[in-house]
Amino acid sequence: MAFCDLHVHSTASDGTDPPGMLGQLAKQAGLSAIALTDHDTTDGLPAAAESCREHGIAFVPGIELSVDPGPRVGQPDTALRSGTLHILGLFIDPDDAQLADIRVEVKKARGQRNPLIIAKLQQLGVSITYDDVLALADQQDTAIIGRPHIAQVLVNRGYAKNINDAFRKYIGQGAEAYVRRDPLPAARAIDAVHHAGGLAVLAHPIQLRYEDPDELEHFTAGLASLGLDAVEIHHSDHSERHCRQYQKLAEKLGLLISGGSDYHGTRKSIALGSENVPFEIYQTLRNTPPRFPRSTPHPPHPRRSPTFPPQA
Ligand SMILES: [Zn+2]
Ligand SMILES: [Zn+2]
Repeated sequence: MAFCDLHVHSTASDGTDPPGMLGQLAKQAGLSAIALTDHDTTDGLPAAAESCREHGIAFVPGIELSVDPGPRVGQPDTALRSGTLHILGLFIDPDDAQLADIRVEVKKARGQRNPLIIAKLQQLGVSITYDDVLALADQQDTAIIGRPHIAQVLVNRGYAKNINDAFRKYIGQGAEAYVRRDPLPAARAIDAVHHAGGLAVLAHPIQLRYEDPDELEHFTAGLASLGLDAVEIHHSDHSERHCRQYQKLAEKLGLLISGGSDYHGTRKSIALGSENVPFEIYQTLRNTPPRFPRSTPHPPHPRRSPTFPPQA
């Protein structure tokens, strides 16, 4: 049986493996296809594509966008927002102009947010500086600096037991040094993915933190009305029960399914390919045309491009 992993990070965002290593690692993990889906960047895609080509792994150019989850279903607009909404773009054209605009905006927003988080931490008596975070990011050769790096500094300085502990105690949603980022509306994220010729996938629905399946369905139906193409049912945060629940949800809403490990190298204890996602899921996604036609003239569709050949 052949497998794929359609949710992978590299040093281009907050993973610890350089994108140029991914082909070899995928081969070692026994995978036939992978998607590189770094947070808010496509910088790693060329090196990853090349590496996959060398090792005979089918490659999916992707991105993971952090999106405003909006108000909770059944609650007023002003209610405290909880839960994380990430949209994966799979089979995207890395050079698409709309995606490029989003990347620039996100980078700017992140640049403003990190110093604010540090300032809040300092007010809480935590003696770390932004330079400490920059030094760590530099050491790890990561291009995008975000909360995982701040969390790592907190761990290194003994303020937290591990990354999760640092988020819970200090910088996660609801914690004292949490700072909201300027949110990207879901409609814009989905449109940009479509503009880039890709498929928009609801990543790890568990992280939306809807306990009630009906509320989750209502929420996902809203995304579907904006053009969402698929739901990530296999994910390292999902139990088998969740996986079945999300598969049913996708079927009910007429959406495709996707799956991946959310591999981050050594930053998290999740192995590449650990979700055993059937290769057929990759094939189905690859053979599905985008739901909406692109609004501007565009080079040949990336999924049809000889650069990213399918595997038999
Ligand atoms: Zn995510
Ligand atoms: Zn991810």
